[in-house]
Amino acid sequence: MIKIGVFGASGRVGKLLLEDIKTTPNMSVSTVYVRNELDFSIDPSILVTADMKSFLSACDVVIDFSLPEACETLLEQAIKTPKPLVIGTTGLSTHQLNLLKNASELMPILYATNMSLGIALLNKLVYQASAALEDFDIEIVEMHHKHKKDAPSGTALTLSESAARGRELDIEKVRISGRDGNIGARSKDEIAVMALRGGDIVGRHTVGFYNDGEFIELNHTATSRNTFSKGAIHAAKWLADKKPGLYPIADCLKL
Ligand code: NAD
Repeated sequence: MIKIGVFGASGRVGKLLLEDIKTTPNMSVSTVYVRNELDFSIDPSILVTADMKSFLSACDVVIDFSLPEACETLLEQAIKTPKPLVIGTTGLSTHQLNLLKNASELMPILYATNMSLGIALLNKLVYQASAALEDFDIEIVEMHHKHKKDAPSGTALTLSESAARGRELDIEKVRISGRDGNIGARSKDEIAVMALRGGDIVGRHTVGFYNDGEFIELNHTATSRNTFSKGAIHAAKWLADKKPGLYPIADCLKL
């Protein structure tokens, strides 16, 4: 039985994780971390704690869907109490990403800005298309619900990195995230990543490859957040017995 610690349990994805783990064979939630009080009822056998050390000690694997600052606190404590970590939180700063890399020298960490199988495949396809269609302009559009805090989405940024890798470009030098005013013609290498927000959209990503006379658009739409919780549960099962290191989601999928 793998004991899971849920970090961010009262959030949109966290609540689904609690439900989905209940129906997962050989897995249970042993603890949830909360800052204040939990605003919903939970099985009394689960340790509800605001003490990070007790939280980490009470589980075999942590699944995190929280916020960047919260994820940072988790990583800082995990460096003192190493534990396999599945990190789904997006919008991490450079400092937080470096912390994550350092922590992965002490424990296995699977970090994925999107836990869905479809997006993992899309990243592969984008890499291939970017390399094959070298004269095509690449533009990425993402749409999410109105509550999403970070923009562009972590998934869109990962897709832009896959596109840049396909052309051996440095994404930091070619990514733009907006156009406004008399900015002149599009440059050949730029990769635009645009964010739209509204309603209850779970997540939609379009990567377009545009040339004179033809274009291809690769689309992925998440219709349910269970896609992410189930993907994270699959990742946690896979990660539980791995050696320290930083693993991408593709490693635990048969792609
Ligand atoms: P949410 O706002 O509904 O939930 C955030 C959770 O974090 C809440 O439980 C909140 O209590 C907790 N939290 C906030 N600050 C905290 C702190 N300082 N310490 C401890 N806990 C704290 O958000 P959500 O929609 O569930 O998304 C959570 C994160 O997961 C976001 O970064 C989102 O972009 C990301 N996300 C990732 C994927 C993926 O597949 N990787 C999919 C969906 C969402």
